[in-house]
Amino acid sequence: MRERDTLARIGGDDFVVVLSDLASPQDVPLLADRILHHIALPIPLQDREISLSASIGVSLFPQDGDDYDTLLRNADAAMYRAKEAGGNTFRFYTADMNAQALKKLEMEARLRHAVERDELLLHYQPLLNLRTNEVTDVEALIRWRAGDGTLVSPLDFIPLAEETGLIVPIGQWVLRTACQQTRQWLDQGMELRMAVNLSTRQFRDDKLVQTVRDALAEAGLPARLLKLEITEGAVMDNAEQAVRILSELKALGVGMSVDDFGTGYSSLAYLQRFPIDQLKIDRSFVKDITLGAESASIVHSIIALARNLRLQTVGEGVETTQQRDFLRGAGCDLMQGFLFSRPLPAPEFLALVQAHRAN
Ligand code: C2E
Ligand code: MG
Ligand code: MG
Repeated sequence: MRERDTLARIGGDDFVVVLSDLASPQDVPLLADRILHHIALPIPLQDREISLSASIGVSLFPQDGDDYDTLLRNADAAMYRAKEAGGNTFRFYTADMNAQALKKLEMEARLRHAVERDELLLHYQPLLNLRTNEVTDVEALIRWRAGDGTLVSPLDFIPLAEETGLIVPIGQWVLRTACQQTRQWLDQGMELRMAVNLSTRQFRDDKLVQTVRDALAEAGLPARLLKLEITEGAVMDNAEQAVRILSELKALGVGMSVDDFGTGYSSLAYLQRFPIDQLKIDRSFVKDITLGAESASIVHSIIALARNLRLQTVGEGVETTQQRDFLRGAGCDLMQGFLFSRPLPAPEFLALVQAHRAN
């Protein structure tokens, strides 16, 4: 169990687990699965091995009861349904929660095979320099072509990949693929700096620096053509540790960018200490830039701050010419958004950039 959970034996072979600080009931299936997994680990007993199984019933406060007796009774009823289903599994008290839990576990099982089954792909979105009108940078954005052919958005599977740890192998695949693609374009005479997103868990992974180094070496890509994007939350959560990790990455020669800037809580003192190169102004500010004075002044402030710290700025989610003109007037360096191009498969991206250069 996690340190903050409570586990009690209430009699016979009945145990109660209290999870008192769940962010969401969505977290229960993974925890229940983990408990079942640990219970099932073989136990050596003299020269034999035995293994156990369990059935778990889940009731949620307050929807399934707001006192101890009701919660326990409903968890008990749910446990009997887990037993009826053959045991070694879990059930929620309500049918609705069961359906959701099942869906999540199914998705996890499918995501587990996505890498080996070659179901992941990258789309590429160009970043346009607002002064020179050149495409200098590109961001790799992951897509999952699930078994039934549908394209799943990263917003729908990256959080699950984070929770389950699958983000580590997936992130390695993204880094390797993006580096190889950048190298290929370089060989075709198109020098671009590639931005790759890192989630919090990847950022904290011990092997991150080695993974980045390997991906660059394998592709034969100069480190200056790779940029890593992390969110404010990932760096600010444990700022001292972040300074160390960022410095190690920086020493490799890769660029560092803070994504969705303005949505988290940045300590300005730390911002100065972080070896970063770029701030990406979150889409939510850009969206309202021409509508309200508030977003406009936030964007002006971010750009002024970035200038003082000698950081490059990117306006994210630029959809209209008015937004582009505002950013250009405010001194923003780069823009990214549907106005210039959506994220595209590699061949279409290449064609777009070549056509843009020819113009
Ligand atoms: P992000 O890094 O902030 O990426 C920008 C997102 O904004 C992309 O969504 C992009 O398609 C979208 N976008 C770009 N221009 C516009 C615009 O003009 N209007 C609107 N409405 N949207 C625009 P996408 O591809 O769905 O990715 C969502 C998020 O998923 C990314 O946000 C990033 O945080 C995460 N992500 C994507 N690929 C990866 C990956 O390889 N690894 C990790 N860890 N996270 C990833
Ligand atoms: Mg990004
Ligand atoms: Mg962003």
